[in-house]
Amino acid sequence: MSDAETLFERIIAREIPAEIVHETENTVAFRDINPQASVHALVVPKQRYRDVGELAEADPALLAEVLTAAAAVAKLDGIADSGYRVVFNTGADAGQTVFHVHAHVLGGEQLGFFGRGDG
Ligand code: AMP
Repeated sequence: MSDAETLFERIIAREIPAEIVHETENTVAFRDINPQASVHALVVPKQRYRDVGELAEADPALLAEVLTAAAAVAKLDGIADSGYRVVFNTGADAGQTVFHVHAHVLGGEQLGFFGRGDG
């Protein structure tokens, strides 16, 4: 897990490459390396919190900045009107693999149902 803990920090620091699509003083957005939709970006706060619950408790204004950045990415990618999904996987049952909170921004096509994965 230690590699996963530092992965997004290394992208933020430009130590490993990523296709960065949006940046603010406190957030960075980049393309997911394994896209699950035509548009799939990740928005991360530069300051590391483990998950969205920890971020919400510690710094709700920063969480709002992450969501504002997600909306900006949707606009930049031309999916603000067609629709998109913002997802925070949180913990093991949700399949969170990188423990630096990140919002998935998914769209650009009709998305499937979500939940148990059998819909
Ligand atoms: P999660 O499973 O919610 O923790 O999401 C982690 C996401 O990070 C996955 O969708 C991965 O495809 C993505 N990911 C892992 N490594 C990289 C990377 N080097 N650059 C971009 N996205 C990555």
